[in-house]
Amino acid sequence: MARLCIKIILLKIKNFLDMSTTKRVYKFGNKTAEGRADMKNLLGGKGANLAEMNRIGVPVPSGFTITTEVCTEYNQLGKDKVIQTIKEDIEDGIANIEKIMGSKFGDPSNPCLVSVRSGARASMPGMMDTILNLGLNEGVIQGLVKKTGNERFVWDSYRRFIQMYGDVVMGLKPESKEDIDPFEEIIDHLKEEKEVVDDTELTTADLKELVTRFKKAVKDKTGMDFPTDPWEQLWGAIMAVFDSWNNERAKFYRKLNNIPEEWGTAVNVQAMVFGNMGNTSGTGVAFTRDAGSGEDLFNGEYLINAQGEDVVAGIRTPRQITKEGSVRWAKLATVSEEERQKTYPSLEENMPEIYRELDDIQQKLEDHYKDMQDLEFTIQEGKLWLLQTRNGKRTGAAMVKIAMDLLREEKIDEKTALLRVDPARLDDLLHPVFDTKALKSAKILAKGLPASPGAATGQVVFFADEAEEWAAKGNNVILVRIETSPEDLRGMSVAKGILTARGGMTSHAAVVARGMGKCCVSGAGAIKVNYKTRMMNIDGKAYKEGDWISLNGTTGEVYEGQIKTMDPDLSGDFGRLMGLADKHTRMYVRTNADTPKDSKVARNFGAKGIGLCRTEHMFFEGDRIKAMREMILANDEKGRRKALDKLLPIQREDFEGIFEAMHDLPVTVRLLDPPLHEFVPHEEENQEEMAMEMGISIEDIKAKVDELHEFNPMLGHRGCRLGNTYPEISETQTRAIIEAALNLKKKGIKAIPEIMIPLTGTQKEFMLQEEIVRNTAEKVFKERNDRIEYLVGTMIEVPRACLVADKIAETAEFFSFGTNDLTQMTYGYSRDDSGKFLPVYVEKGLLKVDPFQILDQEGVGQLVEMGTRKGRSTNPKLKVGICGEHGGEPASVEFCHRVGMDYVSCSPYRVPIARLAAAQAAVKEGK
Ligand code: PEP
Ligand code: MG
Repeated sequence: MARLCIKIILLKIKNFLDMSTTKRVYKFGNKTAEGRADMKNLLGGKGANLAEMNRIGVPVPSGFTITTEVCTEYNQLGKDKVIQTIKEDIEDGIANIEKIMGSKFGDPSNPCLVSVRSGARASMPGMMDTILNLGLNEGVIQGLVKKTGNERFVWDSYRRFIQMYGDVVMGLKPESKEDIDPFEEIIDHLKEEKEVVDDTELTTADLKELVTRFKKAVKDKTGMDFPTDPWEQLWGAIMAVFDSWNNERAKFYRKLNNIPEEWGTAVNVQAMVFGNMGNTSGTGVAFTRDAGSGEDLFNGEYLINAQGEDVVAGIRTPRQITKEGSVRWAKLATVSEEERQKTYPSLEENMPEIYRELDDIQQKLEDHYKDMQDLEFTIQEGKLWLLQTRNGKRTGAAMVKIAMDLLREEKIDEKTALLRVDPARLDDLLHPVFDTKALKSAKILAKGLPASPGAATGQVVFFADEAEEWAAKGNNVILVRIETSPEDLRGMSVAKGILTARGGMTSHAAVVARGMGKCCVSGAGAIKVNYKTRMMNIDGKAYKEGDWISLNGTTGEVYEGQIKTMDPDLSGDFGRLMGLADKHTRMYVRTNADTPKDSKVARNFGAKGIGLCRTEHMFFEGDRIKAMREMILANDEKGRRKALDKLLPIQREDFEGIFEAMHDLPVTVRLLDPPLHEFVPHEEENQEEMAMEMGISIEDIKAKVDELHEFNPMLGHRGCRLGNTYPEISETQTRAIIEAALNLKKKGIKAIPEIMIPLTGTQKEFMLQEEIVRNTAEKVFKERNDRIEYLVGTMIEVPRACLVADKIAETAEFFSFGTNDLTQMTYGYSRDDSGKFLPVYVEKGLLKVDPFQILDQEGVGQLVEMGTRKGRSTNPKLKVGICGEHGGEPASVEFCHRVGMDYVSCSPYRVPIARLAAAQAAVKEGK
């Protein structure tokens, strides 16, 4: 007991010491700073960069940053406690600003105003609150008018301040979504009374009247007077910015971008500088390179006599910063050179000295950060101030170009260049994209899952066979289905895009579309499809067959009508980046492909082989389905063999095509996997056709279809259970594979088949299949008097297989993790039905992400790690890869690298993404 008491007391002392020694406020100004760029976690992105800019001599209005840890304390301990702990530091911070700026907070004769801004570790643009012009009251106003000689500007600043503070701190917001902002309502009334249209037409007297009315509204709604004491204003604003970390917008944004709740925001308090103090003042934003194309061209926009928000508000046409940019802009806007010079001169022409200083600073900042910067600046009465710098957001194409340019310029090394490109953004470069201008005026109809990236525009068709007919006539079609099945493959392959009302990211439509590199939006629940009427209904509006729609498979958006698309530009930098990736990677990348065409696409994208060829996909083409159905509907082995004999030459030919496309590279062919009932005819018409074909009654067919029905087909008669109950299937498929390879050998083409057994869960299951495969192969070798090298391995996709991987690996030559099924069986979530609950789970935070898209490293990952480790314990040479959908997802690829896999396999269009992600994993590991 005594020991426990001592422990508690010691803990309390420790906490107290921590509380009293922790630095909570970091000052900056006058080219010195207590913080640094690498303190983002503590100071937030904005605070860290404000400090760093000071350190490298960039002019920044002085201020201080309250750390993100204080935000966490605020959430845990509450307002009073936090004020108590930071009061002295804040007073010291304000005193420092006063000293540097030569003015005084709240002093009417020489006032100092401040801004209070949020700033988290990761940029959360516009999600949290900001308050400008803080420190104003009617006394200060008099002083400021005297100082600036600009009464209108001062009163306009005051009314803006009351508006912002009233909203953010005092909570005067619209009460419902139909209401307009209470302050805007007051402005509108006054404008009506004064019979003016624009805010700028309001006189100083009008602005004074607005201030009176604003204050009255605050009093009426809150029962409190608008605070006049600058210190009271400051504390209110700081606490409100902390509170804004938990507003709905910010929470949603965090969820969307996987930003942890516990990070908190920093608060930056900084001396105000004004861009609206007349014609020698102004404000603007700039990029050190072009964020759209990546071109090394300093660019941006500015406005004379304006505050920051005016540049983005779109009320006045901003001007370009450089002359070059201005001339280019005028061309696009069809503005004559004469008018450009007169009305829209560039900053370079208008304020050459300021421009030169800004140009030097942008170069300095880019050289310092070694990346493209996005800057905000203000010019106050001829003096330039930088308010912010950060790494600029950019398109996928710009990301690649800037990284490779910086490498060429020797500003960064190869490894850094690799890490600069977000693998997922390579998608932007590989698929057609919407014309950005056309997209601006497009109407969004619905939103589904971004199942397969790209842009597609076409006419709605509801049936796969009709999609083929329409496409054959030269129409662009979008195939719209409630969900797709393998029977829709041909229709899908000719469609420009695929839209489904149901299904998740691993639904049939999604997987197949990604494989084809075809744009697909899946699970767009707002779409009600009626096959009978050939119509779909979205929000009460009907769309019929032939109507035009457009899909953005990168965002999941469905648009009305036709939107212009553009081809991607695969510039030389893309190839160079891929070359770098291959130089630094340890794992290599294969592809999941079932046709020679897909194989070639993947090979062009750098695939080093096929990691998964799903043989069943071949059975849906043309008449093959009939032979397949005959095999399934047969009553005995003899009947099955008869049908399999028909399938053998077809399969052999298919394999020859794929092996040829992938010559000299390994091709993993998986034996038949899906439940048989997926192939049987369910429609009367097809049942009749089969009855005729097989010379049996339609009743017999129906009875067989019923017999094949399963309650849990995914856990039923599928995978190696098929080959172990009907060995003749595995035999025939093996024969087709080996004969195809031997045929090619005769032509001088080297095929390297790897035969893969699906859904293994026990050692014996694998061994029986292995025996069938090896015996059949030997038989064929003997018949042909020739041989080839081949491997026999297995999918690891049943949790039990991971647990007994050491046993299975005793004879298996390779493992390929089928993480789609492994995820399904580990979680017990049906792949095909999870669309009903997974989105809700993610929304409610029960799951951070959809585990079918991003590998669950915590749970499923343990099995993958164990399977790999155990497998290699009995077979050190075991080749290990992954072929589930996660094989093309960057975070999952990184995990595969850490586990020690040899390769990942993914759909063709994801190959470059996986190559880069694999290289990044290797680079990160080495750091
Ligand atoms: C898997 O389960 O991860 C896999 C690749 O197989 P399929 O998606 O065909 O079941
Ligand atoms: Mg599987």
